[in-house]
Amino acid sequence: MDIIFLGTNGWYDTCTGNTVCALVKTKRFDIVLDAGNGLAKLDRYCDGSKPVYLFLSHFHLDHIIGLHTLLKFRFREGLTICAGTGARSVLHTFVNNPFTMPLARLPYRVKIIELPAEASKLPFKVESRPLKHSDPVLGLRLRIDGKTLVYCTDTGYCLNALKLATRADLLVTECSHLPGESNPGWPHFNPETAAGLAVKAGAGRLVLTHFSADRYPDMRRRAMALRVARKIFTRTTAAKDGLRIKL
Ligand SMILES: [Zn+2]
Ligand SMILES: [Zn+2]
Repeated sequence: MDIIFLGTNGWYDTCTGNTVCALVKTKRFDIVLDAGNGLAKLDRYCDGSKPVYLFLSHFHLDHIIGLHTLLKFRFREGLTICAGTGARSVLHTFVNNPFTMPLARLPYRVKIIELPAEASKLPFKVESRPLKHSDPVLGLRLRIDGKTLVYCTDTGYCLNALKLATRADLLVTECSHLPGESNPGWPHFNPETAAGLAVKAGAGRLVLTHFSADRYPDMRRRAMALRVARKIFTRTTAAKDGLRIKL
């Protein structure tokens, strides 16, 4: 499978990239993780010939602002949006007049699945667990094509992140804080937290994404975070928009 990072910023777009979005290309499905502004680039890599599954970790704007670009796509096999409890109500409010084209008027079929209650309706295995953030957020563990991919964003360190990440082939985490930074009032990962989680979980590989736009104004800062993380977990990569990883 291929994982392509379409947006790697947290909070807002800057010259370093768009807000978070990643595409996971599998044999039978195109899976998208979060819908920041990076989502607008999806049609560079996804032609709509496979069913598309879009997972939203939570509803903060940097994770859903790209939904207004759904109109440009032609998902012939339909789109399924998967998000936490209450997703139907939130999505029918946000992806609707007067903000943008209503979901029901998009030129393809759209279904909504609320996690974790309806996870069994998915054609592949997905485990979701609540993480630690200012609003409810879900960490995700996907089992597909014989691989385990875990996505934990917008969270401080917590047991559920560790449970999800255990023995993942690929662990994708946020990296909002700078090295050494922590703020109990605003729980997020710094590179040491992310790398420490990868070690403790026995993950195969770690990719850092969701670099907070204000703390990481240029790629030098990301490179610095990568150096710090690699001292703890060598198989770490710092994502940038356009990065492709083979798993
Ligand atoms: Zn965020
Ligand atoms: Zn958030």
